[in-house]
Amino acid sequence: MSPLTPEEVVVVGAGPAGIAAAIQLRRCGIDPLVFEKERVGGLLRSANLIENYPGFPEGIKGSRLAEHFENQLKRHGIRVLEEEVMIADYSSGLFCVGSHSGKRETKYMVLASGTIPRENCGVVISKEAEKRIHYCVEDIMGISGKRIVIIGAGDAAFDYAVTLSAENDVLILGRSEAPRCIKVLYERVLNNRKITYLRKAEIGKTNFKNGELVLELMKNKNTNADLPEGFGLQNDIVADHLFFAIGRRARLGFLSERVEKKMGLLKSEERLFLVGDVGNLRYRQVAISVGEGLKAAMKIAGRIDSEG
Ligand SMILES: Cc1cc2nc3c(=O)[nH]c(=O)nc-3n(C[C@H](O)[C@H](O)[C@H](O)COP(=O)(O)OP(=O)(O)OC[C@H]3O[C@@H](n4cnc5c(N)ncnc54)[C@H](O)[C@@H]3O)c2cc1C
Repeated sequence: MSPLTPEEVVVVGAGPAGIAAAIQLRRCGIDPLVFEKERVGGLLRSANLIENYPGFPEGIKGSRLAEHFENQLKRHGIRVLEEEVMIADYSSGLFCVGSHSGKRETKYMVLASGTIPRENCGVVISKEAEKRIHYCVEDIMGISGKRIVIIGAGDAAFDYAVTLSAENDVLILGRSEAPRCIKVLYERVLNNRKITYLRKAEIGKTNFKNGELVLELMKNKNTNADLPEGFGLQNDIVADHLFFAIGRRARLGFLSERVEKKMGLLKSEERLFLVGDVGNLRYRQVAISVGEGLKAAMKIAGRIDSEG
């Protein structure tokens, strides 16, 4: 493949933001090339119930909404390359995007690469325990009949707890006095007999003994913790899996140093667009990602039009 045939637009990531950008570009007569390293739909696939995306009065499962998005992408005949972008560089007015199958040049690049989970938060984990520690929910999505401890007290921790409780018993450990999730999720958890939420609870050390995880609750934090049945007694929690849901950070590791340095300029010149969660860590929502993808596409179409 010649690296010298430039694409009009390259979109990195086929989550809600990248999909929305690609569909709008296509509608404007542009033929974007979308890269997706995992599954079309992105993080949306692991969301339990989406109740704030207009058009679905009863709410819709994240995986179902992702399927709708994927079908729409297909209906528009958009090219999706199932490859990871390993490097994105920039020189002489063109981005050079490298993946497994080679390099492609493009004048415009839409970064819709989302986020990656933050790992650990100071918990000491023994070597044997490592195989039962998870940061991506996909690792434990299909399991059943297990005891799962989730560390975190935000929307994602509570949402994952609801999903995993369909087939498992779940214990949520939050460090703070109060949960940081939205009210509706909190109430859903309180009303779910398969989920227990402990406030001000922090784990110090994690071991693996007799085929199960043993998590030491740090003294002086929540020594009176009332553990649910099957999860051990007082300060020693026993479980099958430990899952960290303690926040996420932007996924931008594939950008060259040059692009990182020029990021501000490239954005202001409207050659590079960061859309969705990758550029928006505080307000991570599907509708916002879709809106940002759409807006970037409209700007690019306008620029391509004016260039003739
Ligand atoms: C548990 C949970 C519940 C949620 N609930 C809601 C809710 O109720 N309502 C709501 O509005 N939002 C909710 N969200 C948030 C919503 O899922 C995200 O805001 C949305 O998915 C962000 O879309 P995005 O396209 O920006 O990023 P993502 O969905 O993260 O998509 C990014 C895509 O880029 C791909 N990618 C990354 N790097 C590369 C690379 N180098 N090469 C190729 N591909 C790459 C990834 O594989 C991924 O598919 C929830 C999220 C979670 C985790």
